[in-house]
Amino acid sequence: MKNRRIAVVGAGITGLVTAYSLQKKGFYCEVFEKNTAPGGAMKTVKTDGWQVEYGPNTLLLKDKAVKDFIEEMDLLPAKISANPNAEKRYILKSGELVPLPASAGGAVSTPLFSLKAKLRVLAEPFVSKNDNPDQTVAEFAERRLGSEILDYAINPFVAGIFANNPDTLSLRHAFPAMHNLEQEYGSLIWGSFSGAKKRKEAGRIPRELISFKDGIRELPGTISSKLDNIRFNKDISSIEKKLDGWYLISGTKQFGPFDNVVLNTPLYKWSSEFLSVDKETMEKIESVNYPPLSVLCLGFRKEDVRHPLDGFGFLVPEKERRSILGALFSSTLFDNRAPAGHHLLTVFIGGGRQPRLASLETDKLLPLVIDELKDIIGLEGDSVFVDHIYWPKSIPAYHVGYDEVLHTFDNIEQENPGLFLAGNFRHGISVPDCIMNGQKLADRISGS
Ligand SMILES: Cc1cc2nc3c(=O)[nH]c(=O)nc-3n(C[C@H](O)[C@H](O)[C@H](O)COP(=O)(O)OP(=O)(O)OC[C@H]3O[C@@H](n4cnc5c(N)ncnc54)[C@H](O)[C@@H]3O)c2cc1C
Repeated sequence: MKNRRIAVVGAGITGLVTAYSLQKKGFYCEVFEKNTAPGGAMKTVKTDGWQVEYGPNTLLLKDKAVKDFIEEMDLLPAKISANPNAEKRYILKSGELVPLPASAGGAVSTPLFSLKAKLRVLAEPFVSKNDNPDQTVAEFAERRLGSEILDYAINPFVAGIFANNPDTLSLRHAFPAMHNLEQEYGSLIWGSFSGAKKRKEAGRIPRELISFKDGIRELPGTISSKLDNIRFNKDISSIEKKLDGWYLISGTKQFGPFDNVVLNTPLYKWSSEFLSVDKETMEKIESVNYPPLSVLCLGFRKEDVRHPLDGFGFLVPEKERRSILGALFSSTLFDNRAPAGHHLLTVFIGGGRQPRLASLETDKLLPLVIDELKDIIGLEGDSVFVDHIYWPKSIPAYHVGYDEVLHTFDNIEQENPGLFLAGNFRHGISVPDCIMNGQKLADRISGS
């Protein structure tokens, strides 16, 4: 029924891709966004030669569907690849930045792990498979790879992606690829080698870390410019089903009727006033924690930094007991992020590891961070540029037991025909995952 009217609430990446894909299929689609710009977490700001990212800094291209979508948006000419140096990723160990090994040879000689830990990794294919369907990332990593790899590789890696701890996240939901390797091949190492052909067949392309010339915002901005109907400054306070369809309420205004509504608003924005659901359902939704996170974008004169910053950045394992989770070497990652002669760093603070640090005011947080940078990268001068972004709720934690949350979403959709839920709270938090989930949702809606 092509004459269906569809509303999308929220112009985050999932909502934008869903709306674009529905419009392409010939449906009438209208997007309602509370802010003045599209993109939600995807926001780039330019000030006096500094170009900073408030949310995602990079997109990992590994799926053909995502590359094709970027091409369809005519964004391939604007796409930029990360500097080859960005292959190098540092981990802080005993106060020193040590590169993560990038090859088998490097893994043998790295000072990052003890001989015992290296031998433990070699034994990984012989560790028996665990049938527990829902284990934490920490349980999985310790069992298969040992405690040193958990502490100095997995713990900082999880902080870097989810701003959270491996002992709270569910392996199957947060890192389904790792879960599948164990289930299918009985080993991560064995599965990584023998699964390569299968991944290629499944639409995988060589991995590429990208952004766009004018930053990440180019992607939502471009999708938004291709939409026929997008309204900004529309904070939707409730969604109601009436006899003739769905209505959206914003202030004193009401929009509708719509045959379908796609909700792309984060879970913490939901309430029983927003959407009519029972108490038990709302409690399940509220059980999803989004840890607070501070992002400090800092500029320094190159001569004030002793470390060459020749890499992607560094991650800090919890064991090192520092006040920061890690930092990106943003002006190494991509050109034109800082004025000539300067470095731009993006530092992450708080998350599930140290939630209280995340909420500190800039004047309290900055000295803490500067002290850490003096020690870690040999910073010798003051920052010449500071932008502080506070995310009171950053990224949804796919906790153990997340199946119940996913079932709750399915139930809400079944009990409210015409309503669809879309966002990083379902099937992946990365921007590429959100793009593919938006496309799949449009297929599901058009077939419904
Ligand atoms: C600090 C940070 C760093 C990240 N880094 C990376 C990275 O490097 N790479 C990567 O792939 N991913 C990264 N992510 C994850 C990724 O950016 C997000 O998961 C993704 O952008 C979320 O998209 P979404 O579709 O869920 O919508 P969101 O971005 O959550 O957008 C939701 C939209 O709904 C709107 N809205 C909310 N309430 C209402 C309402 N009542 N009425 C109307 N509109 C409303 C909001 O204004 C917003 O525009 C990062 C996330 C954060 C926070």
